[in-house]
Amino acid sequence: MIKLKAILLLASCIISYACQTDSSLSDSLGEFCAKLPRPEYANLKLHVTSNDWFEVYSVGDGVWALYEPHQWQEVISYLILGEQQAVLFDSGNGLGDIRAVVNKLTSLPLLVINSHSHIDHIGGNYQFENIASLSTEFSLTRSKGVDEASVKEEASAAALCRPLPAGVTQADHTIRPYQITRVLTAGQRLDLGGRQLEVISIPGHTDDSIALLDSEAGYLWTGDSYYAGPIWLFADETDLSDYQQSIHYLAKLSPQLTSLFPAHNTPKVDPKTLVEVASAFDKVLAGSETSEPEWDGVLRFQYDGFSFLLREDFADND
Ligand SMILES: [Zn+2]
Repeated sequence: MIKLKAILLLASCIISYACQTDSSLSDSLGEFCAKLPRPEYANLKLHVTSNDWFEVYSVGDGVWALYEPHQWQEVISYLILGEQQAVLFDSGNGLGDIRAVVNKLTSLPLLVINSHSHIDHIGGNYQFENIASLSTEFSLTRSKGVDEASVKEEASAAALCRPLPAGVTQADHTIRPYQITRVLTAGQRLDLGGRQLEVISIPGHTDDSIALLDSEAGYLWTGDSYYAGPIWLFADETDLSDYQQSIHYLAKLSPQLTSLFPAHNTPKVDPKTLVEVASAFDKVLAGSETSEPEWDGVLRFQYDGFSFLLREDFADND
């Protein structure tokens, strides 16, 4: 099994660059490495601004996906360009230098907007001056920084398919504090020049979750409320009733959409999937679906292309 993983690591290096085949790392690769590269990336062209941590892809008109494939979250942050302003939707794990990548892609004034304040989306915030977020207890707490065991785990050998970027160590990895300089409100429209983004409040996964909508292009950025993979809905800060309402709201938008840009795994997904997700989640809450244990206390409800991870006792707390 380890040998197979090492071969797959080498294969991923062929489409990548600056590959580091550290033998101690390849012996302890995270389980997720075996599924990389994901087949969806075969249709995307790696951009020259990519480096040994971020893979950069053009995924829409003026939209760049900044993908972290070598870390188990497989986070995707997005750089969205207007004529006068750019938005960085999420700043990743904070393990790679996301600002260096952004600086190569644009010189426009930049606003960082977080899809929500989980640690894998706010890690690079400290590198930027202009940061916008909804103002909730969760977002304000997170802006003070996070230094707990779960953050260190994100930089552990089990979480990686290649060594950490130069100068980054597991012991030192932390979510550094940052300043929210602009408070967003639900329904607000941001004019980037030739591109308008609407802020949609979609509480559930967290209370500060938002989606961004470019209605002219038909683009919707969904954050963690939808991606092709196991959708985490078991954390203390998750509210399942709110999530149900939010995912239905997004599903209703799907006929007018051309592309979904989720925050993990794959950067372009068919908008029709949202209808399937909303319908499946209704059945989960109605108690009519079967599940498998994912890990201690957490159940997985599996569907074609996505799943929900919920607490074993979710029905009692909902
Ligand atoms: Zn999240």
